[in-house]
Amino acid sequence: MGRYLESSCKLCRREGVKLMLKGIRCETAKCPVEKKQRNLAPGMHSWRRGRISEYGVRLREKQKIKRYYGLFDRQFILYFQRAERIKGNTGETLLQLLERRFDNVVYKLNFAPSRKAARQLICHGHLHINGHKVDISDYTVKIGDKITIKKSEKSLKRVKEQLESNPNFAAQSWLQLDRTTPEATVVALPTRDDIQIPVEEQLVVEFCSR
Ligand code: SF4
Repeated sequence: MGRYLESSCKLCRREGVKLMLKGIRCETAKCPVEKKQRNLAPGMHSWRRGRISEYGVRLREKQKIKRYYGLFDRQFILYFQRAERIKGNTGETLLQLLERRFDNVVYKLNFAPSRKAARQLICHGHLHINGHKVDISDYTVKIGDKITIKKSEKSLKRVKEQLESNPNFAAQSWLQLDRTTPEATVVALPTRDDIQIPVEEQLVVEFCSR
């Protein structure tokens, strides 16, 4: 599996929104999207680019989702095809499936400062689901899944330090977090209101259905 090795901030500047890819730095004034003079699309003469086409608008919305969840094109298309097969609003279903990715859930529980760090935590086998080690970051969580930390000093220290870095953190209503153990349970499926990405999913559906 390939990896994106260039600057993450470049991706936010390209989309013109904060995709929160760098953990704590994203909350500070150092974020280039916060700085007016640096919040330009990357590349030379980016300010000269003309009006964006209808196709371009849809493409940007798709790229926004893809980059927010850290996916490659092929992975994104597979999620879209999966969402199409499920009854209901395809755009919302797509977002719901992505929100239920294990790496996203770990990030949303504040067990890791970013999705990238969450993926590393998972791949290194620090987390369990329902008592079994799960080292697949695209595992789709379901209602009733219990996420626990591996019983090792190193794993517990890593997660506890992250939780202590933000004592006021509150998990979203679809996740029940016990900070003391620490462990969490998926108590519901995420709704559109729980998904904070500023995207028009209908445009993404139009783009992928061409
Ligand atoms: Fe960089 Fe985070 Fe700001 Fe994005 S939100 S530009 S990743 S600091």
